[in-house]
Amino acid sequence: MFQWLKGPSSAKAMLQRSKSGEAPLPSDPYDLRGQAAVVTGSTSGIGLALARTLAFRGCDVVLNGLGDPAEIERTRADLETACGVKVRYHNADMARGDEVGDLIAFTRHELGRLDILVNNAGIQHVEAIEKFPADKWEQILAINLSSAFYATRAAVPVMKAQGRGRIVNIASAHALVASPFKAAYVAAKHGVLGLTKTVALEVAEHGITCNAICPGYVMTPIIENQIADQARTRGITRKQVVEDVMLKAQPTKRFVTTDELAGLFLYLVSDLGASANGAAFPIEGGWTAQ
Ligand code: NAD
Repeated sequence: MFQWLKGPSSAKAMLQRSKSGEAPLPSDPYDLRGQAAVVTGSTSGIGLALARTLAFRGCDVVLNGLGDPAEIERTRADLETACGVKVRYHNADMARGDEVGDLIAFTRHELGRLDILVNNAGIQHVEAIEKFPADKWEQILAINLSSAFYATRAAVPVMKAQGRGRIVNIASAHALVASPFKAAYVAAKHGVLGLTKTVALEVAEHGITCNAICPGYVMTPIIENQIADQARTRGITRKQVVEDVMLKAQPTKRFVTTDELAGLFLYLVSDLGASANGAAFPIEGGWTAQ
């Protein structure tokens, strides 16, 4: 059906579509030049990979997240030079609603528009429920769930005014199923899915979509730290955590890659993703099929 995927025949396919009354597909639906995006928690891991994907497709991007300021500036400048797009950085703390609002206002001010919002910032804490620290519960709910609410609330009026927008929430397989010792994380990620569906219904008639990507285990700093925590909580070795806890749930028996997430992500933010709305997309090697 999508002849344009095959390259040279795309012009013919576009012509056929125009004759049939359908709007012609763009020659490259993943060309994001002229668009502007903000990715929360994009100084490492999945967020940085998705920000890079956007920049390499020509989209201006605002980075956000924690880390060494000199290293963040190096990443920002390298991306800007390599891709020839505007790349900015804002240090909003995703645990604070007012700062999340500032991040959205900054994006609009610096890049002149806001087409793509990626709610990605997240942290983890692994502990049995009876010992789970209250401050960790509050912090995880704030960063993993409430920040998506504040960012979406601020971004939707801008997207509505533009008549188009894409909101992608990086949830988790833990938005669909639970694992022990992750009460706050699992509760927050299930909440992200509820937020995703609700927002999707509210924005659907404005050319805006809101979806959730639900990754399985991806080897990023959040997972590297978790291996040590899981080993301590369960009283097992690091190797046992990787093989018997993490990859046990993932039938492919390997970590998901950020490239695999980027492929789906590009589809969702492109015009081709216009009818994908309010959905949860698991990319977890079959974990939640069990
Ligand atoms: P990561 O630790 O590499 O990245 C987390 C990002 O969030 C970093 O940029 C960090 O600086 C930022 N961050 C943390 N607290 C913040 C705060 N208070 N304010 C601003 N930024 C803050 O981990 P990751 O694996 O890339 O995680 C990204 C998202 O993907 C998270 O929401 C996570 O829950 C989700 N996820 C990860 C996996 C996995 O296996 N890695 C699986 C499913 C879902």
